[in-house]
Amino acid sequence: MTADQASTAKYRLFSDYHTHPQGHRVQRYTQALLQPWADSARRAGLTDSAFTDHDRYHTGIDFDEIDRLRERNPDLRIRAGIELDNDPIHSAAGRNWIEKHWDKLDFVLGSVHFLDRPDQMFDSVPGGAAQFEGRSIAAIYADYFRRVREIAATGLVDCLAHLDLVKIHGHRPGAEIGSLVNETLDFIRARNLAIELSTAGWRKPVNELYPGDRIIELAMEQGIHFTTASDAHSHAQLGDKFPSLAQKMANFGIGQICVFEQHDRMQLPL
Ligand SMILES: [Zn+2]
Ligand SMILES: [Zn+2]
Repeated sequence: MTADQASTAKYRLFSDYHTHPQGHRVQRYTQALLQPWADSARRAGLTDSAFTDHDRYHTGIDFDEIDRLRERNPDLRIRAGIELDNDPIHSAAGRNWIEKHWDKLDFVLGSVHFLDRPDQMFDSVPGGAAQFEGRSIAAIYADYFRRVREIAATGLVDCLAHLDLVKIHGHRPGAEIGSLVNETLDFIRARNLAIELSTAGWRKPVNELYPGDRIIELAMEQGIHFTTASDAHSHAQLGDKFPSLAQKMANFGIGQICVFEQHDRMQLPL
C-alpha cells in the first residue's frame, strides 16, 4: 500500500478496552449503572468493550451483574476487567482481589499514576503538574518507566495503559524518547503484554495520543500488539475520538487490534 492509500484508508474501530463505569467513586454495579454503557457502545458502533474500573473501587464490581448485562445484550461482547494502579495506599488490596478473581476477569490493565507522592496522582489536572516543578524531567521519565516495568512484572496485567502518561502536563525530556522507553518496550515484549492506543491524551493538556508516534513506531518494530481505548469516565465518552485514532492507525499501517477473553489475547483485523 502506498502512503497515500494508507492515509485515506478507513478503519472501523470496534473495541474500547479502557472504561470506568464507576467514575471516581465506589458505585455498585447494577443494570441501571451498566446498561447505558451497552447502549452507548452500540451507538458508537463498538461490539467489544471492557469495563476497567480502578482497583481502589473493586468493591463495586459485581460479576453476576456483568453476566446479566451480557444476557440482556447478546449482540455485544462485554469483558470483565480492572485497572491495576501503582497506588501505594490501595493497590495491595487491589492485587489481592485480582489474584482471587483472576479466572472471572478477562482483562487487566496495568497503570502508573503515582510517582513520589503517595497521596496525589501525578496525572491530576492541573494539581499533579506541581510534582514536576524544579525537577529533572529526564529523571522523572526514567523513574516513571521503572515503575511501569514494576507493574508489568507483577504478572497480573495483560496490557499497559497510557504508556507515556508522564507527558500529560506537557513536560518533555531532553533525551530522545527511544533511549528512555526502549528497556520498557523490551520488557513488555518479553512478557508478551499488549499496550493501548488511548485517545485520552487528546483530552489532556499535552493534547497527544498515548503513546506518542515515536513510541508507536518502536513498539511496532518489536511486534507489540495494541488495544484501542478511550479511558471513558462517562458512557458518553465511549469510543471518544476513535475516527481520529482510526486515521492515525491507517497512517501507521496498524491493521490489527487485540481483544481479550479470560486473558487470552486474540488479534482481529480491522
Ligand atoms: Zn489510568
Ligand atoms: Zn483509566
